[in-house]
Amino acid sequence: MTERIVVVGADAAGMSAASQAKRIAGDAVQIVAFERGTHSSYSACGIPYWVAGDVDGPERLVARSPEAHRRNGIDLRMRTEVEEIDLTAGRVTARDLAAGRSYRESFDALVIATGAVPVRPPLSGADAAGVFGVQTLDDGAALLAYLERTQPRRAVVVGGGYIGVEMAEALVRRGAAVTVVDQAAHPMTTLDPDMGAAVHRTMEEIGIDVRTDTTVIGFETGSDRRIRSVVTADSSIPADVVVLGLGVRPDTALGKSAGLPLGDHGGLRTNVQMQVLGHDQVWAGGDCVEVLNLVSGQYQHVALGTHANKQGRVIGHNLAGSYATFPGVVGTAVSKVCHLEIARTGLRERDANRAGFAYVTVTVRSDTKAGYFPGARPMTVKMIAERRSGRLLGVQIVGREGSAKRIDTAATALWNRMTVEEMTALDLAYAPPFSPVWDPILVASRKAAAAVRQTGADRGP
Ligand SMILES: Cc1cc2nc3c(=O)[nH]c(=O)nc-3n(C[C@H](O)[C@H](O)[C@H](O)COP(=O)(O)OP(=O)(O)OC[C@H]3O[C@@H](n4cnc5c(N)ncnc54)[C@H](O)[C@@H]3O)c2cc1C
Repeated sequence: MTERIVVVGADAAGMSAASQAKRIAGDAVQIVAFERGTHSSYSACGIPYWVAGDVDGPERLVARSPEAHRRNGIDLRMRTEVEEIDLTAGRVTARDLAAGRSYRESFDALVIATGAVPVRPPLSGADAAGVFGVQTLDDGAALLAYLERTQPRRAVVVGGGYIGVEMAEALVRRGAAVTVVDQAAHPMTTLDPDMGAAVHRTMEEIGIDVRTDTTVIGFETGSDRRIRSVVTADSSIPADVVVLGLGVRPDTALGKSAGLPLGDHGGLRTNVQMQVLGHDQVWAGGDCVEVLNLVSGQYQHVALGTHANKQGRVIGHNLAGSYATFPGVVGTAVSKVCHLEIARTGLRERDANRAGFAYVTVTVRSDTKAGYFPGARPMTVKMIAERRSGRLLGVQIVGREGSAKRIDTAATALWNRMTVEEMTALDLAYAPPFSPVWDPILVASRKAAAAVRQTGADRGP
C-alpha cells in the first residue's frame, strides 16, 4: 500500500526529508509538501553574502526549485499554509494563500519542518519602513531593494549574534556607517566574554560603532513612517536603515495546538530517529526541534542549517523504512565579520558551570601558517577541559583567514570524547603554507594537558 506523507515546511529539513524518502522508497510513498513562502530548499545562510555583493541572488541561493522537486515526484504546493493538524483523524487543513481557500489533506505520516520565528522587539516603530529582518530570501530581496533605492548612509544592526555581525559586515561593504547595538558586554555571546572581547575590538578597528550593554527601547520614525533613529536608554542613534538580528525561537505553534510535546526551550522533542515523542506517525526536524547536546547531556535549541539538513535526511531514511539516527550535537558553529573568523564547539565556561563540570581553561596565540610564510595571520584558541579526566569540553577560535575551520578538528575530538592529552598526539597535517609545525590546536592541547596534569597534582576535587 502506498504511504501518504505530508510535509509542512519546504526548506532544509522538510525537503531533505521528502527527497530522501522519495529517493529510497520511490512510488511506495506519495508525498505532499506545503510551503507558505515563495521559495523551496533555499539558503538563508547566503543572505548576508548576497547583500554584501559576494554572491548573486535569489536564484543562486535556491538549491532546488519547486519545479525540480515536482520533477522528482514530490507534490509541492507553494504559497500554501498549513493551519491545523488533526492527529486523531490523520489530516491537515491547508490554506491556498493565493486563492484564499482552505482544504484538507490526509496523511499516514506527518513531517513538521516549520523552522523558527525571528524574535521581533515589541516596540513601537519596529515595523517602520526601513526596518528589516533577514529570515527568508524575500526578506533579503526587500532589504536589498531598499538599500539600492535609498542608498542609506547610516545603518544600525540590533543584535550582535552571528547574523548581526554578518549583516554588519555586509552593510560596511556597501559603504554604510554601521552601528551594532547589543544588550551584552560583547558581541557574539556564543563565545565566552574574553573571546567576545576580541571580536568587539576587531569590529571597532574595522570602523563599526559597537554599543554594548545597551538596550533598544524604541524606534523613531518620520512623518513618512520611515525609520529615523534607534532609541536606547541613554541615546538616540540616527538610522537610515535598521537590520534586526535578535535570534529566533522554534516555530511550534502548529505542533503545540495539535497537542505535541514541547521541551524547555519551546522546541518539539523527538527521539534519535526524529520521531516526535509519543507519536509514531509524526516526525520533526530542523529549527523547530530541540537537540541533545552530547557534551553537556542537556537539551537545547540550536537553529542551524547543518542540523536541519542532517535531521531531514534521517527522517527521510526512516520514513522510507530504512534506519538512521541523529544522536545530537556538540555545538559547532562558524562565522565571520570582515577579516575576522569566529568559531566555537562544545561548551563555553558558563555552559560547563551549568552542566556541573569542574574545568581548566587555556588560551594560546599562534599563527595560521608558519610564522615566516607570507600571509601568516594571528589566531587565538581557547580550550576548556575537564579537571582530572582531561576530557575536552569546548574550543573557541578567533583569528584571521585560515583560522575558523580548524574548529572541525576540535569538534571531531569532542564527538569522540577525547582527552586533551590524547589530542596532543593527533596526526595533523603540516606544511608552512598551511600551519606552523605545531598546529594551534596541538599547542592548545599541550597547554591544556599540562593544566589538567597540574589539577591532578593539586589536592582537592
Ligand atoms: C541570515 C541567516 C544566515 C544563516 N547562516 C547560517 C550558517 O551560516 N550556517 C548554518 O548552519 N545555519 C545558518 N542559518 C540558519 C539556517 O538557515 C536554518 O537553521 C535553516 O534554514 C533551518 O531549516 P528548517 O528547514 O528547519 O527551517 P526554515 O529554513 O525556517 O524553513 C521552514 C519553512 O517552513 C515554512 N513554514 C512554516 N510554517 C508553515 C506552515 N504552517 N505551513 C507551510 N509552511 C510553513 C516556512 O515558510 C519556511 O520556508 C542562517 C539563517 C539566517 C536567517
